Amino acid sequence: MLEIENLSVEVGGRRILKNINLKVESGYTNVLFGPNGAGKSALLMTIMGFTGYNIVEGNIYFKGEDITDLPLNERASKGLGIMTQRPPNMVGVKLRDLLEVTAGEKVNIDALVHELNMDSFLDRDINVGFSGGEIKRSELLQLAAQEPSLYLLDEPESGVDLVNISQIGGMIRKLLHGEMKCAGKRRKEGHSGLIITHTGQIMDYVEADKGYILCNGTIMCSGNPRELLGEIKEHGYEECIKCKVTQS
Ligand code: ADP
Ligand code: MG
Ligand code: MG
Repeated sequence: MLEIENLSVEVGGRRILKNINLKVESGYTNVLFGPNGAGKSALLMTIMGFTGYNIVEGNIYFKGEDITDLPLNERASKGLGIMTQRPPNMVGVKLRDLLEVTAGEKVNIDALVHELNMDSFLDRDINVGFSGGEIKRSELLQLAAQEPSLYLLDEPESGVDLVNISQIGGMIRKLLHGEMKCAGKRRKEGHSGLIITHTGQIMDYVEADKGYILCNGTIMCSGNPRELLGEIKEHGYEECIKCKVTQS
């Protein structure tokens, strides 16, 4: 689904990502850990194709195609979608109107709206006056309506209360794995995720297949996401930086 090879990125003339190698297979969900300022958001923004993230080395492949030089809109139409960490307010743009413009042909918008309990937000300006959890639900609604094949999720649980987290987590699970209450079914072919998580909380809802730890713009290690999270909780990121565990 996604393959990143030896990627280095500059923002404002500063190199913030160095020699990144990362892969997400079709139907799999990987998580990206890392301390504040590591470059996690920058990596997702680069994958999506936002301007200002200048690729100075390396390549990004999506569904086998080199998309390194493609603009954001073309990446989106190929099936890449992002939920950013700090989405902007869109004064004058109703949620309903944006959904109608961006939704895929076969999408049941009403069902998604209902699922995320967003009925009363449809005629409001996007994100204006929304709480933290409401912003995330609104973003997830917009993203789900686009039906991407790769979901790039930047800290979907941050700033979200417990009620919202179960709604958001449950929805992400459904989007990535299929039916919510379908035990044992972990893969939804053609639907993959790359999720940034600071706390690992989203892993209570989504089965993560592989984890990566990003520190100082570099992938320090990769492996079983639960083991990595355990290491982070026990030793903190400082130890991860020091030990530089080999990739697995
Ligand atoms: P994380 O998401 O891991 O907390 P970020 O990707 O947001 O980290 O930021 C990584 C580094 O890049 C930080 O030092 C940040 O200040 C810097 N950075 C991000 N965006 C910009 C920008 N537009 N201009 C200058 N520096 C930036
Ligand atoms: Mg951060
Ligand atoms: Mg970030």
